[in-house]
Amino acid sequence: MSEIRKHYFLDEYCIIATERGKRPSDFVSKKIEKPSVSNCVFCAGNEDKTPPSTAVYKKGDILKDTEEELVKDWEVRCIPNLYPAVSTRSVKPVLSGWEVQEGFGFHEVIVESPTHGRTLSSFSDDEIELLMKVYRDRVHYYHFKENIQYVSLFKNWGERAGASLEHIHSQLIALPILPPVLKREQDAIHAADGCPYCNMIEKERKSERMIRENNDFVAIAPYFSKSPFEVWILPKHHVNHLINCTAEMLRSFGEMIRFVLFRYEEILDFPSYNYMFYGIFDDDSYHLNVRCHPILSTPAGFEKNTDIYINTATPEDTAMYLKCE
Ligand SMILES: [Zn+2]
Ligand SMILES: [Zn+2]
Repeated sequence: MSEIRKHYFLDEYCIIATERGKRPSDFVSKKIEKPSVSNCVFCAGNEDKTPPSTAVYKKGDILKDTEEELVKDWEVRCIPNLYPAVSTRSVKPVLSGWEVQEGFGFHEVIVESPTHGRTLSSFSDDEIELLMKVYRDRVHYYHFKENIQYVSLFKNWGERAGASLEHIHSQLIALPILPPVLKREQDAIHAADGCPYCNMIEKERKSERMIRENNDFVAIAPYFSKSPFEVWILPKHHVNHLINCTAEMLRSFGEMIRFVLFRYEEILDFPSYNYMFYGIFDDDSYHLNVRCHPILSTPAGFEKNTDIYINTATPEDTAMYLKCE
């Protein structure tokens, strides 16, 4: 079967093209056994092998390394990225006759556990809640820095997802521009009658694509899915940004992310994945969401040529496989 599906509210298309009867195991790739990392810079005890922390979470306190002392026995540790995509130092761009601006911004790594080899699916309720609080704090901190327009928060897990270190971590890049992908959504939302995401949730909740619901969030295999086993997590009640989530919301947000990752591990055998947060703090009309993409296929010539993605798993099957526990 093959269908060209249009996005809920944007001028975007994906192709759902599945061979009949494809099962999750058909997407599982052979893993290469890697030797365990003996000198991982993110592991507890190796604090001196990274730049000094920007924030360290320890027993309810938020601390920071000083020149005299590095904080030990931490729960979550935030550090500047050693190879930042953007820089806090002012460097005048080379004038080429084309539009250019300084590569200004902040690039931070959030080390999510002191212990090597853990995955988020094994986090306790308190651990996942703390992590969500760290996400909110750090995004909040950078959002209000001068000249920052957008803070991108994302996680790459596994080699195929672009993670260069296997110790669990997320990253945050604060930019002086609002990415066009969000600007396009914003324009479409302003032109729409009511919030398109609220509208989508209301309809999808009753559909076969609904995966799970908890106190504040839903997980959906969206009708418009660009990649196999794509999942969107959205607050049931309209909230525009992670910064505006209450403590209770963060708890159920984390619980839902953990559930989705746990199910990925169960049915897809620890696939590499990305998840990304979408929100526009200065615009109440936006609707916060997280998109989870296990890396089960590689965008190639057609996708690059057309920006139309071919997805070989139907969202309807994805929901069916992910929801049964
Ligand atoms: Zn490690
Ligand atoms: Zn909404």
